[in-house]
Amino acid sequence: MKDKIEKTADQWLKQLTLEQFHVCRDRGTERPFSGAYHDCKDPGVYRCVCCGDALFSSEAKFDSGTGWPSFTAPVDAENIATAPETSHGMRRTEVLCARCDAHLGHVFEDGPAPAGLRYCINSVALKLDKTDKQDD
Ligand code: FE
Repeated sequence: MKDKIEKTADQWLKQLTLEQFHVCRDRGTERPFSGAYHDCKDPGVYRCVCCGDALFSSEAKFDSGTGWPSFTAPVDAENIATAPETSHGMRRTEVLCARCDAHLGHVFEDGPAPAGLRYCINSVALKLDKTDKQDD
C-alpha cells in the first residue's frame, strides 16, 4: 500500500491554482485542447501535480486526437487507483493518484493494442518532469 497524503481543501487551495484544484480535488475536466500537454512529445515522466508521484511515462503517451493527454498505461499500476463513476449520464472509470487521491481523468477501453486502454488525463493534473532538462 502507498503512504497516503491527506490534506484539507484549504491546504490544497494554498498549494494549487484554482484550475488545478477544480480538476484534481473537485473532479473537474479541463476543456479539450486547452492544456499544456495534449500535444506534448517531450520525453520525461508525468508526475501528479498535487503530490509529485510518478504517474505516466512519455513513452506510454499517444495521440488520441481527443485534446487530452492520453496514455496506454501508468508507470506503475500501484501509483494509480481506479473507481467506477456514474455521473453526467455516463458510466465511466475514474483514474486517481493512489497517493493523494487527486482526480486525474478517466480510463477507457478503446486504446491501442495490445492492452487496449486509453488513460485520458487532464493536463492540469500533471507536471512533466523532463528527462533532458539542463538544470533544476
Ligand atoms: Fe498525487
